[in-house]
Amino acid sequence: MDGKEEDVDLYALLGVDKSASPNDIKKAYRKLALLHHPDKVSEDKRVESEAKFKAITQAYEILRDDEKRELYDTHGMAAFDPSRGGGPGGPGMDMNDILSQMFGMGGMGGMPGGGRGMPRRPRRSPDEEQAYKVTLEELYKGKTVKFAAEKQVVCSQCKGSGAKEKVAPNPCEKCRGQGVREILRPFGPGLARQEIIRCDHCEGSGNYYKEKDRCKKCKGKRTVKEKKALELYIDRGSMQGDRIVLQGEADQLPDQTPGDLIFHLVEEPHDVFTRIGHDLSTDLNVTLAEALTGFSRVVVKHLDGRGIHINYPRGKVLRPGQVLKVEGEGMPHKRGEAKGDLYLVVKIEFPKDGWLESDDDHEALKKLLPPPGPPIAADETDDVEFTDDADIEEMGAHQGDPRYSGGEWEEDEDDGEGGPQCATQ
Ligand SMILES: [Zn+2]
Ligand SMILES: [Zn+2]
Repeated sequence: MDGKEEDVDLYALLGVDKSASPNDIKKAYRKLALLHHPDKVSEDKRVESEAKFKAITQAYEILRDDEKRELYDTHGMAAFDPSRGGGPGGPGMDMNDILSQMFGMGGMGGMPGGGRGMPRRPRRSPDEEQAYKVTLEELYKGKTVKFAAEKQVVCSQCKGSGAKEKVAPNPCEKCRGQGVREILRPFGPGLARQEIIRCDHCEGSGNYYKEKDRCKKCKGKRTVKEKKALELYIDRGSMQGDRIVLQGEADQLPDQTPGDLIFHLVEEPHDVFTRIGHDLSTDLNVTLAEALTGFSRVVVKHLDGRGIHINYPRGKVLRPGQVLKVEGEGMPHKRGEAKGDLYLVVKIEFPKDGWLESDDDHEALKKLLPPPGPPIAADETDDVEFTDDADIEEMGAHQGDPRYSGGEWEEDEDDGEGGPQCATQ
């Protein structure tokens, strides 16, 4: 990546086709992220690897998000270029800056290979990330959330200077007006390294004012707390882990571009439906009679309150674990009118013990149902005792046989979050 917007092909970066599905993109990203994770390469390759890792992560952050991907597909990286009205910050910033700001990656140090010796620009205040819980119903229909956020804003009275109107700037003597100080931090026997820290005397402002000279409104703190009405748009079909960015709505700090307020959607577990991607699944509970003779009724109430009616014909037997698929009754896609599918997993409610009382009823039922196959021939037979509530997972347990696999945790490969993405948190 050389920083020229025109040259950045995010698809090529991830090695996928333009028509790649979200899943393909995710897979490609995970593969590359593992390959290039800076923690997983030798020291001499680290810088190169860090650059590559960032680049693919940035590409993934755009392509994983339907909206951002659409923006990118239509406008290219210009969509994310603030000098053309695409993002936060002033003109003249390059893609690396924009991306690092958009995705809160500013803290990872300089972008090797992408910096081209740019002068240091005013820093940007940190992004604020928080989880936002949503129900599956809300994700199905989409939701607008209005809320009042309390945030730090630059004091309007002193415009962030912290001083009264007529008071001249007074450079802090501790940091000589720099707002930061160099300190030596020991890190081994007889060793110390230079570190730059925020000046605590002037709280990083570079100016120090006596109490009588301080701004009355913010008491010299340069920022004040303010309530602001904000709106969060959750698109229908949004996914667990989707990020909704309210640009520039994080706490403000003087002389800094405010960071973004970023919400991560957290899908709450649902009592009835399980969601994977755009598809939904739920149990189809039928009685034994229904399984054998068919039925015509509402089997489940959908997320929008509609009853889903199934007409299962007489003459076809439903079996436990059988799966019916209802096309187009899954979750809506974010774009277009398409929906995923609904999978109905057949669960048969067998009657309780003793539900048939008389011998005649038993005989009548037996006659209705198919007879058993021919008896098993054996020279000798034994009448045995048994229990009728055993657990097959216990078969072979604690006997040292490698074929026993019960109780073992399966590797969860598909966790969506975490994994190689941890570096972006
Ligand atoms: Zn100072
Ligand atoms: Zn003030």
